[in-house]
Amino acid sequence: MKFVCQHIGLSIVIDDKLVDQLCRLGSDHYPKEYGGLLVGRYVNNNKEVIIEETVLPKKFKSSAFSFERGVEGLRKTLGDLSRRNPSLIYVGEWHTHPDGRPVPSGTDSSALRTIAEHKDVFIKNPLLLIIGLSNTGYELGFYVLYKNEIHSYELEYNQQHKTEINLIEKTYGGK
Ligand SMILES: [Zn+2]
Repeated sequence: MKFVCQHIGLSIVIDDKLVDQLCRLGSDHYPKEYGGLLVGRYVNNNKEVIIEETVLPKKFKSSAFSFERGVEGLRKTLGDLSRRNPSLIYVGEWHTHPDGRPVPSGTDSSALRTIAEHKDVFIKNPLLLIIGLSNTGYELGFYVLYKNEIHSYELEYNQQHKTEINLIEKTYGGK
């Protein structure tokens, strides 16, 4: 799947299998929120970010309305990923909104700003993926912090998204 943000000119590519994996992880923790880190690489003159995988926190606190991940072990894991070929770097965060829309809450927005200012994982334009998860399917919302403002992404191929949702509805249907 490819997401575009015309205003910024940075596109996001994420494999359907990874989306599926994140949805399953979220579904395992439903009706509480769940999430983790997104790692990947910038290509095409930094105009495109490919999200390759997720790194899950060892510790986290979550409820139906909040998710807070720990930082334990993350520095080492990210260090190992950076030495891979191709090198993978931290690009942002993801979490679920059980029975909710994939829209950032006030807490989500301030968390994204905190990340951008954090000295250990300094990235200027962190991504945020929110998965609105219900027992009938899911909805993805991608966001990026750019010049201290949060911009949303749109799926490049709308039709593909619909197909994907139908597929997931079947997978999770009746659960
Ligand atoms: Zn949230």
